[in-house]
Amino acid sequence: MSIKALVWGENVHEHSNADVRALYPDGMHETIAAALTESTGIEASTATLQQPDHGLSAEVLEQTDVLLWWGHAAHGDVSEEVVDRVQQRVWEGMGLLVLHSAHFSKIFKRLMGTPCSLTWREAGEKERLWVINRSHPIAAGLDPWFELPQSEMYGEPFAVPEPMETVFTSWFEGGEVFRSGLTWQRGAGRIFYFGPGHETYPLYHDKNIRQVLRNAVHWAANSSPAWKGIENAPNRPTAEALEPIEQRGLSLHKDGEEGFR
Ligand code: ZN
Repeated sequence: MSIKALVWGENVHEHSNADVRALYPDGMHETIAAALTESTGIEASTATLQQPDHGLSAEVLEQTDVLLWWGHAAHGDVSEEVVDRVQQRVWEGMGLLVLHSAHFSKIFKRLMGTPCSLTWREAGEKERLWVINRSHPIAAGLDPWFELPQSEMYGEPFAVPEPMETVFTSWFEGGEVFRSGLTWQRGAGRIFYFGPGHETYPLYHDKNIRQVLRNAVHWAANSSPAWKGIENAPNRPTAEALEPIEQRGLSLHKDGEEGFR
């Protein structure tokens, strides 16, 4: 069974800037989707901010195994209702790849619970990505390091929670370093943040970047059934305990009642 990946693009710079449009005539989301389908086992489709429900209806999300998110200029235009829906699906097990300036997206900040701020500079400088977790599936097929001749500098401090794993660390020509490939789990869902992807450089045409995205989709896909109701906290009555136990001491709750959540 193929992994169903959905590439969400804010799709604003491609229409407002001729240089971005020249790099991505069909939009960054289409270029990213094309990179994913170079891998057997991934079916990729796209959605954009401008569509009804931003292309992220409950039905669409229900059919999505891994969602990729690129946003920058219009984070504030994303509806809270859609953010709630995406968060719920991540909790249930949908994978989420957060790309470049989506560090400031509503969904990423919500899932991290921290400012997600960083330092930055747009000087077209070289970025060298070091694979610092060589056996990680997201780094499969990569050399020990690779370079991007022109990139936007994203630097520390990156105000995110301590990650589950650090896959890449970047060095920039100007001297900064940045944890550019990080993983977390929220509920049943796997999350990967990947730094490179500034809109005015051809980064989503780069073969190593495309490899990372394919690898990350495979890593984030959860083949187990969605964990529906993960947000519920049901009471397990004393009388129904697997081993017989007696009620001791005081309880503010009656057996089986809906408790505080
Ligand atoms: Zn950027």
